[in-house]
Amino acid sequence: MTQDLNGTHGLIVGIANRRSLAWAIAQALSSAGATLALTYQSERLEGNVRDLGGTLARPSIYLPCDVTRDDQLAGVCESVGREFGGLDYLVHGVAFAPREALSAPFLDTSREAFATALDVSAYSLVALARGVAPMMESRGGGSIVTLTYLGSERVFPNYNVMGVAKAALEASVRYLAADLGPRGVRVNAISAGPIKTLAASGIGGFSGILQVYRERAPLKRNVETSEVADAAMFLLGPAGRGVTGDVLRVDAGFHVMGM
Ligand code: NAP
Repeated sequence: MTQDLNGTHGLIVGIANRRSLAWAIAQALSSAGATLALTYQSERLEGNVRDLGGTLARPSIYLPCDVTRDDQLAGVCESVGREFGGLDYLVHGVAFAPREALSAPFLDTSREAFATALDVSAYSLVALARGVAPMMESRGGGSIVTLTYLGSERVFPNYNVMGVAKAALEASVRYLAADLGPRGVRVNAISAGPIKTLAASGIGGFSGILQVYRERAPLKRNVETSEVADAAMFLLGPAGRGVTGDVLRVDAGFHVMGM
């Protein structure tokens, strides 16, 4: 599907490296003509993000954004408003839980690990949506896409508190869609099948999950980042204009199987 997004602008939060789902979406948006702001979580990752951004069709702007820091969230929105004079798309591809919470039994999740996982992985969407909504409104509307996983509804080994955070994220999508719909802003999530990325490598036994999907999903394979990006393009662009508050599964059909 080709969409002409020339003259539009997007903010991409959650690129760590070339395997990041947010990077695949950034590439697709850029190829369609959008100009992007790419954020990096820490100085350690700035070089990576700048190197990747340098390969895009048009120059991007680069901004620091640790989503747990209100000052950086405000700085991102201020810079995007100044540089772009409005915003059309937000891609939210951020998640984190302390390593021990992704290996010990869920029962042992500490208060601190629970709060951190929910803050980084779910509240960040609410905070970012609030920040970008006026810029989207000034363009006559916009579209927000976040990334979730089936562990929000079903139990996967070691996914633990991240499953709880994804449930909160998906509920946030629905509440944000209701709040922002009257302002012309759509909010959706893509529930992706497992893909080997940096975040995924923190989940114990992840290759086992990949294998189960290959065996049981109707399409008998794992999904690729480009397939997630194509679905994001649908939700972000004009083709998805009638869709909001939804969770679109891009998982080779795994979620429909009973066994
Ligand atoms: P990824 O490349 O590791 O991306 C996760 C991103 O979150 C990284 O850029 C990471 O930065 C960032 N992040 C973590 N804490 C942050 C903070 N405090 N402030 C700002 N950024 C922060 O992995 P990914 O798989 O593409 O993950 C993207 C999204 O897709 C996540 O929400 C993930 O849950 C979701 N998802 C992934 C899969 C999968 O199988 N890969 C499946 C379904 C959904 P650092 O590297 O610096 O921590």
